[in-house]
Amino acid sequence: MNRRYDAVVIGGGPGGAVASYFLRQHGLSVLILERTPFPRYRIGESLTGVTGDFVRELGLVEKMGEHRFPPKSGVKVLGREAKNEFFIPVPRPTWQVLRSAFDAIVLERAQETGAELRYGTVTAVLRDGERVTGVRYRPSGGEGGGEGEVDIECRAVIDASGHSAVLSKLGLAGRRRVDAFGRQIAVFSQYHRPIRDPGAMGDNTFIFYSRQYHWAWFIPLSPDVVSVGVVMPVTTYKERGDSPEAVLRWGVENVNPDLARRVRGARQVEDVRFIRNYSYRVEPFAGNGWFCVGDAHRFTDPIFSFGVSLTMLEAKAAAAAIAEGLRTGDFREPVANYVSYSDVGQNAIYDFIRYFWKYPAFFGIQSQGRMRKSIISLFAVECHSEEVQSMLKEMRRSLYTMQAEQLPGERLRAVGERALARFTDFQGIDAIYVAERDTGIHLSFYLDESTDDIRESLTDFERELDADFGKDRVATSTWPASHARDAQASAIFDRRTLRVS
Ligand SMILES: Cc1cc2nc3c(=O)[nH]c(=O)nc-3n(C[C@H](O)[C@H](O)[C@H](O)COP(=O)(O)OP(=O)(O)OC[C@H]3O[C@@H](n4cnc5c(N)ncnc54)[C@H](O)[C@@H]3O)c2cc1C
Repeated sequence: MNRRYDAVVIGGGPGGAVASYFLRQHGLSVLILERTPFPRYRIGESLTGVTGDFVRELGLVEKMGEHRFPPKSGVKVLGREAKNEFFIPVPRPTWQVLRSAFDAIVLERAQETGAELRYGTVTAVLRDGERVTGVRYRPSGGEGGGEGEVDIECRAVIDASGHSAVLSKLGLAGRRRVDAFGRQIAVFSQYHRPIRDPGAMGDNTFIFYSRQYHWAWFIPLSPDVVSVGVVMPVTTYKERGDSPEAVLRWGVENVNPDLARRVRGARQVEDVRFIRNYSYRVEPFAGNGWFCVGDAHRFTDPIFSFGVSLTMLEAKAAAAAIAEGLRTGDFREPVANYVSYSDVGQNAIYDFIRYFWKYPAFFGIQSQGRMRKSIISLFAVECHSEEVQSMLKEMRRSLYTMQAEQLPGERLRAVGERALARFTDFQGIDAIYVAERDTGIHLSFYLDESTDDIRESLTDFERELDADFGKDRVATSTWPASHARDAQASAIFDRRTLRVS
């Protein structure tokens, strides 16, 4: 049994399989360690345009046909009481899938290209100082010659273990932090022949909106079977005090009348399952020879089905970073590139979804108007394009402004709004913290980079504040983005979290 590889990949889901495929394309030897025998159940059945691209790139189109996965041409979002709706088409062909079967064919593809697969649970990461040198795993089912845990030597590790977030649990990556959507629960099952729209529209994803953070999905998985799930805050779930089965029945009847009309009378053909508290981020998520991808790194909110696409994008980027790091013997630049690439993608999705939940009606109008093209691109998870980034800039401005308006106290609000209005366009500012103390208002700017532009603008801004609020009332300071943040702040405008505390 081989005990030495260029890279070990923890988890054989879409993240692990795609990472392994690309590691092989870079000519590296790869071992995938997967805990659960495939095929195994996963939720997450609606794929976006970017995943369609990966399916084509990996040569899996024929397999998708063999499985009779419905072709998906778009997403229909139905508003409260089904009184209005909008439709977002997918720019390039993609599919709805049964994840157990889909994940298995992607994993098989990685194996066909030479990635080795063993079933077992990763229990430790071996290190030499900061550098990863291997992993330890517990083989499942007699594999490993009954010798208990097995050590594997490797030069790099990808954590694609999904919600298990193995590298975070083992203390190599940062701790898991709950995100803004962290206290949600999804309850779901599958139904035989609920009412679908006629023709191609009947194969599309339908999202049923109810009220903030309350919604449901309807995703066709085959000509007969449709996946249906309801999502709500854990508090709503607890208030109901019912079993998951009863909550799903209640959700189907009450989230939206059009969902009730479609599902009423259809036979439930799967167990009811649920998953909760699935929104979090791990930070740091990459380091000297190790990379977290997909759900092992971060997951936001499933509403628009971005998960598998973001995961595959990160997997491909992490494979490229490993190839580069091993080639040069230095991971610093590949890690920095991977982190910034992933942050742009994940933050785009995070802010976009925040915007939808804050302004759902306006979002609907924009999706049919001026922003339509960019929204279609973002639904396809083309987060890095200039066009999408410029739409996000507008959305972020609205989110920031709204948050400044919520600041307690007139003076604080005035200073906060002014700081935001002036600095939201600067890429180099990572965060602005606003704090009120006995000595006055303190503004702390955390800077990614201290460019001449920012320095000049800060000096001008300080002069303005002196003139308008009196010299001793507003103090400003600047810090490197990596510096510890002001825990006492009344408001935090953070590019990554957009949160007011
Ligand atoms: C309610 C809900 C609905 C969703 N709907 C969609 C959707 O419609 N479309 C979409 O694209 N995404 C959706 N998602 C997101 C999607 O499910 C995930 O983003 C995707 O599965 C992430 O893939 P992954 O490879 O990172 O992790 P996973 O698919 O979870 O794979 C991780 C693998 O690692 C293995 N593993 C875990 N621990 C260990 C260990 N210690 N050692 C070895 N192996 C280990 C696991 O067995 C597993 O096979 C949804 C998510 C939720 C919560």
